[in-house]
Amino acid sequence: MKNIVIFGAPGSGKGTQSDLMIKKYGFGHISTGDVLRNEIKNGTELGKTAKQYIDNGQLIPDNLMVNILASVYDGFGKEHEGVIFDGFPRTIPQAEALKKMLDKRGHKIAAMIELDVPEEELMTRLIKRGQESGRSDDNEETIKKRLDVYHSQTAPLIEWYKKENIHHHINGLGELDRIFADICNVIDNI
Ligand code: ATP
Repeated sequence: MKNIVIFGAPGSGKGTQSDLMIKKYGFGHISTGDVLRNEIKNGTELGKTAKQYIDNGQLIPDNLMVNILASVYDGFGKEHEGVIFDGFPRTIPQAEALKKMLDKRGHKIAAMIELDVPEEELMTRLIKRGQESGRSDDNEETIKKRLDVYHSQTAPLIEWYKKENIHHHINGLGELDRIFADICNVIDNI
């Protein structure tokens, strides 16, 4: 099992690169953003709670998020070569909980791949995505909040994963193919 955390700020290209990785390697994919948007679409209680945080650019509380993650992960069974965690963990308590959850099952994270993209580029990409996809959190005000949350709560995970010795830095600015080739280079060597 090659479980991988794809990591980066909002708009860094995690979803796009995950799709390419799934096609090439047959990984399973857990995007916590997609899981939550699905709950919202289905009008569940969880969706109603999640929407309030998402539209405000805030993170869903850790305990709630960790429970969701564990149940989605267990639903995957053993049919995949590994799972890509996309959008999780986003806080240090989430990273600790993920490690514990995988330990218990005799699994681990093989690599944390950080897509590094400059702030101005993130802003441009997200505003463009908001215009095209109509995602309710891709407007300028909410994007700014999400980037602040990223810097204060999520970016510290880079140091956390460096200490775990599984952090890999990728320049996320430029040609998609070059970025993907850099990612494959990491995956093929773990
Ligand atoms: P991408 O650009 O890859 O789509 P993103 O950061 O723009 O990434 P999502 O990962 O889709 O967007 O997440 C959207 C929102 O869902 C977040 O702003 C947050 O409110 C909520 N969310 C998603 N994952 C988590 C998590 N692990 N913990 C807390 N909240 C989360």
